[in-house]
Amino acid sequence: MAIFYSAVKDDPLSSGGNSRVVEGWNDTIECEDGQTRYLAYLGQRAWCDACKSLGVIVAAPGSPDTDRMHDHELNARQALGGDLVMCKCAQRPVVIARYGRSWMIETGGNASAAAGKAAEVPAVPAQESSFNDRFVLRDANGQSIANAAYVVQRETGDFEYGETDEKGHTHLLSSVAAAESIRVFLAG
Ligand SMILES: [Zn+2]
Repeated sequence: MAIFYSAVKDDPLSSGGNSRVVEGWNDTIECEDGQTRYLAYLGQRAWCDACKSLGVIVAAPGSPDTDRMHDHELNARQALGGDLVMCKCAQRPVVIARYGRSWMIETGGNASAAAGKAAEVPAVPAQESSFNDRFVLRDANGQSIANAAYVVQRETGDFEYGETDEKGHTHLLSSVAAAESIRVFLAG
């Protein structure tokens, strides 16, 4: 049995200091300290005080997915305690659900076992020729962005995350990306 509480604006991060969730949206929740706060959603941002950067919130590997509330306007699912923040830290901080404890998901499995560990993105077969089929992230000057953490929001609203290789390639096939509307966020 694992319990996941809703993440809300102002929730702290495991990286300490003044790290906290800085965005929320739409629905509010009555918190234990009597204040009302906005629910946080995946793709919204948190401030990490350890690396002094903003990062988007992504679902922790193995955490509940379809049990999360879905907001149609944002096209995003609710963030939960234990979700990761894609800041510049090598070890991603997690959201600590301090306030939103009146909202929870209970799971029967051991879903929390994987929480807090960075996801490994499945490798696309590593032949040079296949690289043409993948996305390359480029900066404003057209230079490829190597070894950068990124998050892809698929048309379904689901998030996938990974790190570009030394040539800026992502895990996502460009043919897939062409067939649907996606959004790419760079961490930090
Ligand atoms: Zn950080």
